[in-house]
Amino acid sequence: MICRVCDSQELEPAIDLGHQPWCNHFLRKEEVGREPFYPLRVMFCHQCGAAQLDHTVPKEIMFGDHTYLSGVTRSLSEHFRAIAEEVDQRFFAAAEGKSVLDIGSNDGTQLKHFKALGYDALGVESSKTTAKIANDAGVNTLNAFFNLDIVRQFGRKFHVINAAGVFFHLEELHSVSDGIREALRDDGVFVVQFLYMKRIVENLAFDQIYHEHLLYYNLRTIEVLLNRHGLALFDAYVAPIHGGSMIGFVTHRGKRAPTQRFLELREAESKERSNEFSTYLEFAERIKRMKEENLAFLEKARQQRKRVFGFGAPVKGNTLLNYFGVGTQYIECLVEKNELRRGLYSPGMHIPVVIEKELTELPDIYYVLAWNFKKEILANNQSLIQRGIEFYFPVNPKET
Ligand SMILES: [Zn+2]
Repeated sequence: MICRVCDSQELEPAIDLGHQPWCNHFLRKEEVGREPFYPLRVMFCHQCGAAQLDHTVPKEIMFGDHTYLSGVTRSLSEHFRAIAEEVDQRFFAAAEGKSVLDIGSNDGTQLKHFKALGYDALGVESSKTTAKIANDAGVNTLNAFFNLDIVRQFGRKFHVINAAGVFFHLEELHSVSDGIREALRDDGVFVVQFLYMKRIVENLAFDQIYHEHLLYYNLRTIEVLLNRHGLALFDAYVAPIHGGSMIGFVTHRGKRAPTQRFLELREAESKERSNEFSTYLEFAERIKRMKEENLAFLEKARQQRKRVFGFGAPVKGNTLLNYFGVGTQYIECLVEKNELRRGLYSPGMHIPVVIEKELTELPDIYYVLAWNFKKEILANNQSLIQRGIEFYFPVNPKET
């Protein structure tokens, strides 16, 4: 294969999670057992250090109609509010006629916060259902895949461009990057939010690896990509969202000087060998041991006749369940807030989803798949914990 970032052919397998179904599509009863499986394998590029999947599930299958809603989780919505306020105060407090473009704008949660600050907001969202939810809520949203052609159709530029997560799903990486450069005003700021691979490795959060995430970036690797397209990072910090996300600030190359904290983060990557192949191989070994430990825990619970429910039915939970081989032999159901998943089954392991407020019984153990909301979950469930229900976190994120 050819590196998606730098076009090199020097790639080598680093992490093999076997064959897995597309994990975002929870199954209706009649689809159970009929879902296709695809290789889920991370390759390492020896040229630029980018970690990336070698198999691409076509984007029309992946993003035609997803059911993830960013507005559902309060801490996520608050994160989006904080981003909007920070960007406005730091860069555009005095600007007039402010505008923002959100790529992969989902249900419009991020844009609502910009609108509240007086921005003219436009979203581009590939999921029909989700784009409709945003438009119905008054957030102007185009149902399309973002790329350079789309930008040429707008024929306008923006003060702020935001892309949370989605930047790393995209097959048309270079056209998207060109589109961003084209749509960004001369003094504009592109806010790129992505899962930080260095943090995924530190947290052993291998469940963040799934078909939608074609690329796994560190600062060094995203810089290679941005620089190729005339853009440059000048500031960055790690936020706790999703268990460790990088918030990067990007502008046209040569427009703004790099901040001290950005330089320090970059320095930490080289000190800690974050962009070296050996680091990925060690990671792969450690998640094999993690699988053994988790299976031992669940097997013990089964022998003690304890009932185990999954807490949350996040997309990433499916990577974990499928890689560990954990199905209904260990976990009775996945308890979820998002009502769009009512009556569905998890892909691959076929665990039924139950909506939280419709639950009639309680387990002895909650196996927490939505571990990235650990603090919120523990705080909201104190009464269950006091009644003796154990909350087991297969992944334990470190504090950011
Ligand atoms: Zn490369």
